Amino acid sequence: MKHKVLVGMEVHLQLRTRSKMFCGCPVKFGAPVNTLVCPVCLGMPGSLPVPNREAITMALALATAMGCEIAGLTKFDRKNYFYPDLPKGYQISQYDRPLATGGGIEVVTEAGAKVVRLRRLHIEEDVGKNLHDDAKGLSRVDFNRAGTPLVEIVSEPDIASPEEARAYLNALRALVQYLDVSDANMQEGNLRCEPNVNLHIESGGTIVKTPIIEVKNLNSVRNVERALKFEIDRQLAEYRELGAAVAARPRATRGYDDQRDQTFVMREKEEAHDYRYFPEPDIPTFSIDDQWRAEASARVPELPAARRGRFAAEFGLSDYDADALTRERSTADYFEQVTAAGAPPKPAANWIVSDLARHANEAKKTVAELRLPPARLAALVRLVEEGKVSRQAAAKDLLPRLLEGGDDPAALVQKLGLARIDDLGQIEETARRAIAANAKAVADYRGGKQAALNAIKGFVMREMKGKADPAVVEATLRRLLA
Ligand code: ZN
Ligand code: MN
Repeated sequence: MKHKVLVGMEVHLQLRTRSKMFCGCPVKFGAPVNTLVCPVCLGMPGSLPVPNREAITMALALATAMGCEIAGLTKFDRKNYFYPDLPKGYQISQYDRPLATGGGIEVVTEAGAKVVRLRRLHIEEDVGKNLHDDAKGLSRVDFNRAGTPLVEIVSEPDIASPEEARAYLNALRALVQYLDVSDANMQEGNLRCEPNVNLHIESGGTIVKTPIIEVKNLNSVRNVERALKFEIDRQLAEYRELGAAVAARPRATRGYDDQRDQTFVMREKEEAHDYRYFPEPDIPTFSIDDQWRAEASARVPELPAARRGRFAAEFGLSDYDADALTRERSTADYFEQVTAAGAPPKPAANWIVSDLARHANEAKKTVAELRLPPARLAALVRLVEEGKVSRQAAAKDLLPRLLEGGDDPAALVQKLGLARIDDLGQIEETARRAIAANAKAVADYRGGKQAALNAIKGFVMREMKGKADPAVVEATLRRLLA
């Protein structure tokens, strides 16, 4: 069936300011309930909101990085609705004069690169959190989160597959981390996204549009991808069952159950929301002047795509290494610190992308969070490049010691007896023993099985505790076996 997938993404992103959007209460995750509150964020009568300039500057920096058009004149509006976690009975948001419009995010998938256009970016405040105690049949509200600054970023329905949705969120997260405006962690809820998805199905010269479905309860990028896959299949099945009549089905909001990997109906008929938006009377309309724009622009660092290109050109790295190094800003910074400390760039990249990344993964940390001083990794890389220690011994014995706090790589090489063995006599002697001890592998190799050499080589490397140069060992074995 010929069809086109249309996904639009709505993202709410918590800004990492010190204080809330309209009061001085701290923004902090995990504090005891209702300890980070005041009359303003509790919506007490007579309290007055004061906008957080830093939050607006952060949002402007993000808008600038995404190429949005920043409004000259902007204002806050009240979005009225009633819900227990919303103490004022309205949310201060932005309606017809958002902070920014347009712009886009470049996404890269295996299908290539494309730009997902943005519709708007605005600022609003977060709500509190309902806590349900089913055992006691009790519900309470924690208002610590109420008033936390959010930016809402709404895309055009340009995302054409679940893979692109994942790439979009990853690109947005990378951008936000480079700008240092949010932790953008979906598990902790500081990045929340609600994709809406429908299909345009070709049918006898006309296009049948399935109803737009909004998906909620997504707490990881992986679940966004899975939920969209499920939803696309479900909408196709519905079309097969109903034909063109599918277009008349109601729009709906569906939740995602990640245990069952399926979406389920939350609200079926389209609700005509009437939020009775009106201008927030306690905050005047304000303008973003040139000075403020310049201040925001100055916060935009070299962005991931540009840095990737520069790393490839300046350091002669492969696209793969350049991409792996620049996905997190802290990793890219770390690589530059290691090269500045005297490590040759290509091997330094290789150590970071393979060895350090593996240790970081195991520890569920970023490379920078391993806290290996750049000068120490640079010293290790140089010892290997100068042939003082083999790559294997350095990876297996030296690096773990340095990660545990060992401080002088050269001294450790001596202390641990890791110095590379360049004594050809000793290598040849061990190689002869290996040949004597591996009759079967020797016969296989002589019979034409090249791979059999690995077993003999492995024997030598083990005997020599990884301290010989594997290339020299291999050459010696080939010579002796010839
Ligand atoms: Zn407050
Ligand atoms: Mn919103």
